[in-house]
Parts: sequence; structure tokens; C-alpha cells
Amino acid sequence: MSIRIKELTESFTKMLKGKTAIVTGSTSGIGLGIARALAEAGCNVMLNGFGEPEAIESERAQIENQFGVQAIFDPADLAKPAAIVQMIETATSEFGKVDIVVNNAGVQYTAPIENFPAERWDAIIAINLSANFHAIRAVLPQMRSRNWGRIINIASTHGLVASVEKAAYVAAKHGVLGLTKVVALETATTDITCNAICPGWVLTPLVERQVKERASREKISIDQAKQELLSEKQPSHEFATPQQIGSLAVFLCSEAASQIRGAALPVDGAWTAQ
Ligand code: NAD
Repeated sequence: MSIRIKELTESFTKMLKGKTAIVTGSTSGIGLGIARALAEAGCNVMLNGFGEPEAIESERAQIENQFGVQAIFDPADLAKPAAIVQMIETATSEFGKVDIVVNNAGVQYTAPIENFPAERWDAIIAINLSANFHAIRAVLPQMRSRNWGRIINIASTHGLVASVEKAAYVAAKHGVLGLTKVVALETATTDITCNAICPGWVLTPLVERQVKERASREKISIDQAKQELLSEKQPSHEFATPQQIGSLAVFLCSEAASQIRGAALPVDGAWTAQ
């Protein structure tokens, strides 16, 4: 009896056994949380992003050892379309196929629009929006050939609403939601789904930089800056976590989510309910 329960629990928790995923920007923050959640569900994963080689290797090895899946790393710079295509090809040859793509890599820069450096605009549009297009374009043919796929774009509450001094980021994230809807429509009669997750504040290196800037600008402590950031936008007054975003990504890969298509799912402590 207990063996049967163990088998059942295992088959549920290893729901994605045999599947393979690429998670872009997964050397840190939300992407790493998603890669770990997919691996915990039994999925082989390709990590991608920047960072210290030893730290990346340590995360990669930990995923393999902890979850018993294959984990590989590709250093593609997502500002470069050819590198994205190459990354998909590498994952396909290493794993035999790519079933799931999570377009997560993203960067931020804040400044009033009159002072917004044009090269920062170009980089944010390239990494936060165009990279998703290039990855989806490259991976869809093989997903169609097997009639199964999951494409998850990590957008933001800033795909739904705006904030000052984030022209490029808000424009890119609104664009990601538009792209998500088009891909969902073009794949609507297949077993390929495309959705977006819209996190509110999640305490990752990307947000820690904004917390530090605020603390030094307003001459307040890091803790006070965190509280201000939250109380200004996120009614729960709590950060969402990379683990929570990872769990939602796993759910979107499940059979139960197969009719969730073209959605923008907020995980934002009611930020966009206001
Ligand atoms: P992070 O800075 O912790 O991680 C970003 C990841 O992207 C890192 O792995 C980094 O190496 C990688 N990356 C950056 N530029 C790259 C490039 N050119 N090529 C390849 N990889 C690159 O940030 P995060 O907070 O985990 O953000 C992840 C995603 O979540 C982003 O798309 C971000 O816009 C989105 N998001 C974050 C929050 C938040 O509060 N942290 C909220 C909403 C949306």
C-alpha cells in the first residue's frame, strides 16, 4: 500500500519526466527558481545567463544531484539573435528535443525619458522582447512536429501597467504580452500553449539594485527602502518569490493548464488589482 502511495506521489511530483526545457536568464533570481522547479518536476533543463563560471557550475551540478535530471548550461548572449538560434540547436542536439521554453532573461534601467540613453533602450528591447521572438521562432517548428509544447514568457506587472522612469522596460513587457497573444492564437488548435507570467516585486538581484539606489537617494536603510518599494505598489506588502513563480511555470506545463492560452497571469500581491 505504502509503495503504491510512493509511486503515485512520485508520478505526480515527476510530472515532467522525459520533458526538456530551456530557461533563459536562469543563473540568478526568477529564472533559477523556475529551472529548479522544472527540474524538481523531473524535467531536464538547460540553464543560460551570465555570472561567475564556478557559481554557474555549482548551480548546474546541484540541480543534477538534487533532482536526478540532466542539467546543461549555454552562455548565449540573448542580445544576439544568432546566439539564441544556436542555443536552441545545442539544447536540441544534447537533449534530442526541446519541449518547454521559458523566456525569462531580462534587464532593467531607470531614467526619465529625456535622459534615457538610446543604447539602453536598444539593449532592453533586444533582451526583454526581441529575444523572446527569436527563441519562439526557432523552437516552434519542432514543437509543431511533436504537437506538444509550452512557451512561457516572463513579463511583469509592467506588461500591464506603467511606472515612471521605465520607458524601455514597460514598452518591452507590454510587447511581450502582445507577442504571447499572437503565438497563443497561431498555436490555438495544437497542444502547444503560450502564456505570460506577470510578477510584481520579487527580491532578486534586479530588484536589489533598485532597493540600493532608493536607499542611497533617500538616505534610508535597505530595509526601509524595501518597505517603501512594497507599500508604494504591492498591497500585500510582501515580495513574491522565485519558488512561487517556478511553481506556476510547472502548473502551466501540466495537462490541467492545457486550455490556458494567451493569458497574462499576475503574481503581484494585488498590485494590478488597484
Ligand atoms: P536577475 O537580474 O536576478 O536575473 C536576470 C537573469 O538574466 C540573469 O541570469 C542574467 O545573467 C540573465 N541575463 C541578463 N542579460 C542577459 C543576456 N543578454 N543574455 C543572457 N542572459 C542574460 O533578474 P530577475 O529579477 O530574476 O528577472 C528575471 C525576469 O523576471 C526578467 O525578465 C524580469 O524583467 C522579470 N521580472 C522581475 C521582477 C522582479 O521583481 N524581480 C518583476 C517582474 C518581472
